[in-house]
Amino acid sequence: MIVAIASGKGGTGKTTVSAALTSVWDRPVLAMDLDVEEPNLHLFLKPQISGQEKAYIEVPVADESKCTYCRACAELCQFKAISVLSNVLLIFTEMCHGCGGCLAICPEKALSPGQRELGEILWGQAGRAGFLMGRSRVGEAMSPPLMRVAKRKLKTMLQEQPSDVIIDAPPGVSCPAVNAVMDADVIVLVTEPTPFGLYDLKLAYEAFLPLGKPMGIVINRAGLGEDKVYDFCRSRDLPIWAQIPYDRQIAVAYSKSQIVAAVSPQFKAIFMALADKINQAALIAGMVHHA
Ligand code: SF4
Ligand code: SF4
Repeated sequence: MIVAIASGKGGTGKTTVSAALTSVWDRPVLAMDLDVEEPNLHLFLKPQISGQEKAYIEVPVADESKCTYCRACAELCQFKAISVLSNVLLIFTEMCHGCGGCLAICPEKALSPGQRELGEILWGQAGRAGFLMGRSRVGEAMSPPLMRVAKRKLKTMLQEQPSDVIIDAPPGVSCPAVNAVMDADVIVLVTEPTPFGLYDLKLAYEAFLPLGKPMGIVINRAGLGEDKVYDFCRSRDLPIWAQIPYDRQIAVAYSKSQIVAAVSPQFKAIFMALADKINQAALIAGMVHHA
């Protein structure tokens, strides 16, 4: 089973939940940080890193001595990564998505494959949990290509050692967030009872609903604010799977990069109950799916 921990915005406690859930998961599990622009799950899980590799995307490199400036490549590129101005060919590699279309279409073979570094992936072991993370190169604007590399690595890791997966997804509802949750069996949306939390929860719910996956809510800092988040969940039949109290002990644990479930039996019980709810949702979805 793959569980994605997502949120409509950053700072809601998504990583806190990912780390705590990993710590109480009672089957073999691998924690994966796909928040590649700002990964911080490793700060909580403190993994022993056993391997890492740089990730690249294939981008075109031009040999202008062969180019006839026919514009075929520029017209093909839907990402506007190539521009041809009379007799100047410009390639904006930062905008290239590596589809390879321009290389295939160039009639003069004036384009050849080059590389742009995306970042790196790192893997290892965090206690009894496997661990995998992607980390974007500073200045890299695109996350999904690096996320794809991380997902390929996940596949080989799972072949070697089958386990459940808990994904710490990027915040928001744009392409990287959808990319992170699309392979999940269950989506956990982390929010907080504030107007901002409600606004972003609505966006996340709308963005992920078409994926047709079971979704449940974790309300972090419960007791902090207003009730409208609860009203929204009721109105959409969104189950609230856990409420993490607004508690000084949790804030202190977070500031020290400690796993909240390890702070007290009370907090551990919250995350064990969350794990149960996730498993039940996956079971029900599987039964419906197979019916
Ligand atoms: S398709 Fe080839 S020949 Fe035509 S503009 Fe692009 S690089 Fe030059
Ligand atoms: S590889 Fe694809 S995305 Fe990159 S420049 Fe060529 S056509 Fe555009």
